[in-house]
Amino acid sequence: MGRDFEPVGVSIGAGIGRCSNQCRYCQLAYKKPANFSVSRYAAVVDKFLDYKAKTGFDVRQWLGYSYDFGADDFGLFAALHRRVFDCDLKVLLLGGLPLMTGEQLAGWFSQRRNLGSESVIASFYGSDVNHDYLSSRKGHFDWLISAQNVAARLGLKNYQKIFLTKPVLPYVNEMLDRLEEVDSVSGRFAYLLFYRGLGRRFEDQRLTMEMLESQPERLKAMYREENTKWRSEKDWLEWERVNPEASVRGHLSLILTDRNIGLMEKMSCEEIVSDLTVRTKAAYHAVPGRAELAEKYGDRSNEKVYMLMRDMECLWADRFLKANPNITVDRNLTHF
Ligand code: SF4
Repeated sequence: MGRDFEPVGVSIGAGIGRCSNQCRYCQLAYKKPANFSVSRYAAVVDKFLDYKAKTGFDVRQWLGYSYDFGADDFGLFAALHRRVFDCDLKVLLLGGLPLMTGEQLAGWFSQRRNLGSESVIASFYGSDVNHDYLSSRKGHFDWLISAQNVAARLGLKNYQKIFLTKPVLPYVNEMLDRLEEVDSVSGRFAYLLFYRGLGRRFEDQRLTMEMLESQPERLKAMYREENTKWRSEKDWLEWERVNPEASVRGHLSLILTDRNIGLMEKMSCEEIVSDLTVRTKAAYHAVPGRAELAEKYGDRSNEKVYMLMRDMECLWADRFLKANPNITVDRNLTHF
């Protein structure tokens, strides 16, 4: 029972970038908007960057659920991104932004282009009907298309992500025709839904390998490069058998909220890491190791396809917790 966890770094997040959407598949599920400033957030991250310089303990950061913050804050965020990842923030995500007019978007893109952004990613969940339903926003598909055309006019590159579910399949050609309305697309990539957050509610819409293989060539050419690693649950179980997990090494998850930011500013990195490590180890110990989860909670008859082992672990942990309702786990601290 349980598995060991060895922290190799910390991932520091905060919900400063507000999301204007209420997507039915949102992987995050429980978004916690934060009201404190980007500079307060950056000060905590910088404290950990100093700690990294002394100890080698890695630091990652994410600032919210969308890129919806003003130009000054975006500049701070871009500079912080450079300090953390040692590279420029070149990609802008359109997910979660308010529905700005063409003129507002042109200003928004221009400001960020001047700060080093080079490309724009839009995620589509099928054709307009599928997408607008899943994003709970009428007209959102059309807005993404027009937003990417504004970006193209300003010299930014466009990328399109397509998420596939069963209801999308009858509309594949219609969807791809609409996506081609965007000028200068540098890449289109098809994905499956991650098994995460509210996305768990769409298992009845998950595709099988047979469905994926029977799609038009123009869609198959867009399957994400890693698609050779996509597997049905049945095949993931076999994969797990020949690739047993030793122990979990990963990043601690530190989410800054309005309630804890003051405390995190006062505590030393050693104290924060120590507290988070104790709680994260307890969370990992409460759930069986991967091999045991697979053995007891895997479904060898499931032909549905998942992109990552992490999706599988999340599904197996769900089944375990459903069968053991008395066990409580802070899953925000784990990777499943
Ligand atoms: S835009 Fe992203 S964060 Fe916002 S609801 Fe949709 S999936 Fe969730």
